[in-house]
Amino acid sequence: SNINVAIDGPAGAGKSTVAKLLAAKLSFVYIDTGAMYRALTWKAKEDNVDYHDEVSLTKLLEKMDLELKYEQGGVKIILGGKDITEAVRSPEVTNNVSYVARHARIRDYMVMKQQELAAKGKTVMDGRDIGTAVLPEAAVKFFLTASVQERAERRYLEQTEKGIESDIELLKEEISKRDRLDTERKTAPLKKADDALEIDTTNMSIDEVVERLLTITQE
Ligand code: C5P
Repeated sequence: SNINVAIDGPAGAGKSTVAKLLAAKLSFVYIDTGAMYRALTWKAKEDNVDYHDEVSLTKLLEKMDLELKYEQGGVKIILGGKDITEAVRSPEVTNNVSYVARHARIRDYMVMKQQELAAKGKTVMDGRDIGTAVLPEAAVKFFLTASVQERAERRYLEQTEKGIESDIELLKEEISKRDRLDTERKTAPLKKADDALEIDTTNMSIDEVVERLLTITQE
């Protein structure tokens, strides 16, 4: 049958890490909806399309040949045959994706694609509007949060592991700005669905969060 788990929450709350692990434990397909908005943002930059130009962005999106390829240990983002998995994590994309994601026409198209993916079977989908707009009928809904300080520290460690130098204060500013844009936009803003379970992960390990979600999903 068609069971979906929706995971929403602000930037850097560990949604994708947790969603990936939960999907593996449940043998569900993991769908990273943020990657779709990131791919469009990357392509807009590549093609010199203004992040505020809704009409041009929509045209770009409609002709985009995007593939999310599921492999052991992760998802590869393939655009027109090119692997952009790493590229969509760049600061340029991260700092502008919320402008691209603000447009109603872009969101309508993305939601339609995401619903098609979910209709194929069992999924764990993470994003900002999954429980509220994409899958309002999802069997289980989670809303993951953590303090801005904690989210920035996690990002910092991730960057350090990749050998990238970063700065906690700057990361805090970037995360807060993205939260603000995502929360204040008109179409499907970042918001906990009424029937979602909110989990503050500030003082929890990844494994603890995954276990909690797994237990609740299987209840
Ligand atoms: O999850 P991730 O941080 O990769 O998402 C990047 C951005 O894409 C978010 O900050 C948000 O602006 C947008 N997004 C969205 N709706 C989703 C997923 C992501 O608006 N379902």
